[in-house]
Amino acid sequence: MNVADLEEMSRPLIQKGFHLTNNADDAEVILINTCTVRQHAEDKAISFIGNLKAWKKENPQRILIVAGCAAERTKDSLQRRFPFIDLVAGAKSIENFTQLINEALKEKFSWINDNQGAWDSPDFNLPPATDNPTPGLSHPGLGYVTTMRGCNYSCAYCIVPSVRGRELYRSAIAIINDSKNHVKQGAKEIMLLGQTVNSYKNPVASCELRVASQNKNVTIQSVIPAPGLRQGQVAAEIQPHRNLDPRLRVDDEGRGQKPIEDFSDLLQAVANVPGVRRLRFMSPHPHYFSGKLIETMASAPVVCEHLHLPLQSGSDRILKSMRRNYTTKEYRSIIKNLRSAMPGISLTTDIVAGFPGETEDDFKASLDIVEELEFNFAYCFKFSLREGTEAAGMEEQISEEIIKKRHARLLEIVEKTGKQKARAMLGQKMEVLWETPMEGKSRNFYNVSLSRDQRAEPGSVSWVSIDAVKNRKLLGRLMS
Ligand code: SAH
Ligand code: SF4
Repeated sequence: MNVADLEEMSRPLIQKGFHLTNNADDAEVILINTCTVRQHAEDKAISFIGNLKAWKKENPQRILIVAGCAAERTKDSLQRRFPFIDLVAGAKSIENFTQLINEALKEKFSWINDNQGAWDSPDFNLPPATDNPTPGLSHPGLGYVTTMRGCNYSCAYCIVPSVRGRELYRSAIAIINDSKNHVKQGAKEIMLLGQTVNSYKNPVASCELRVASQNKNVTIQSVIPAPGLRQGQVAAEIQPHRNLDPRLRVDDEGRGQKPIEDFSDLLQAVANVPGVRRLRFMSPHPHYFSGKLIETMASAPVVCEHLHLPLQSGSDRILKSMRRNYTTKEYRSIIKNLRSAMPGISLTTDIVAGFPGETEDDFKASLDIVEELEFNFAYCFKFSLREGTEAAGMEEQISEEIIKKRHARLLEIVEKTGKQKARAMLGQKMEVLWETPMEGKSRNFYNVSLSRDQRAEPGSVSWVSIDAVKNRKLLGRLMS
């Protein structure tokens, strides 16, 4: 999400004629996007900003912009502490970002015209589709598409709602057009983003899609067969096409046959965009994980066989105190239904160790569920106290030492389970989207490396056979 925000914020700069550089010494402008989810992320941003004092001193004409969630949380102190920052633009100002940078840049770059690159947004103040999305900052084959901003939850540990505000949805048509434009620019994979992405509701569902004419031809995209497969034969890793609704397809004039209302509809509509070869979404919330969504995922061959579904804790008592709004029973049932609809789907999750009040038994329940549900990987976090959150005021804070130990024990189990799951990939044939000439991602979200004598084109897709597995990393050989 942070990378997607950074792409969005760099878009007006690129439209003004700036180019991306990896070298700070060459840069006339540095734009820093900051995260504040955990204290550690914020500390890293602060130290990075501190190190830029010399860069700015070397040439005071240079511009330093600090944006994002940590900027939102610490606006005033940031400006006081680092007076050399030209612009602090918190996460809530992302919609006005173009105007803000126009102001910040026009004094020093006289060629900047105020209106250039501004978003003319009829879309509830959220960015409309853009004909020219910023090329993927992570790699050329991947297009991030923001579906919504903010979050209506108030998980007790989390600072996000206070720095990003409440949920605001983009219109489905803007999301679909962004996806189409990313494909035009060469993206093979679309990642739909939102804090609780599956709570999506199309704000203009009823008026936006006109009924298409009766005789309009509707075609469904077919899966491109792997090398060695006959036309029409589908690789084992790709689910056969079942009930994808062809009416949830939007033509170039924005016409469709059926209104796009919820996230499942949106997923089908983006899956129906010609040229989208892979589709993912992040982060879904278990509370909104409907049977319809599972059916949609299983029905759309372009939806990748991987899901990241944050769990946070294996203890119902802790989940309740976190205000997550689901139980482990409900979570297990989602996983069971998913696995029966998409056999072999890989699963990743987030777990927090050391939430206030977490007993040894609660923590054990987290260890047990990681083993029981056989996650392919879990991102494990040490509980980080965020000022102003409900958890910060809770009495039973866990000592740093215990949090550290629990985190290490959790990592151990996650690594063990992860290695077992990765070993099962040996000998499989996989489609890989290349991020660099030698590294890429499989559809089921494994990092795949090529053997030393082989190279691939970043942004392209090819099939590999998995010859070796090193911890959780897969080593592949290109199939001819
Ligand atoms: N909206 C997503 C999560 C966004 S934050 C969701 O609800 O699933 C990403 C992850 O950071 C969370 O899933 C959580 O595991 C972790 N996290 C958030 N706040 C944290 C905190 N205060 N301490 C430790 N981990 C935290
Ligand atoms: Fe934070 Fe919870 Fe919202 Fe996720 S759902 S962003 S964890 S408040």
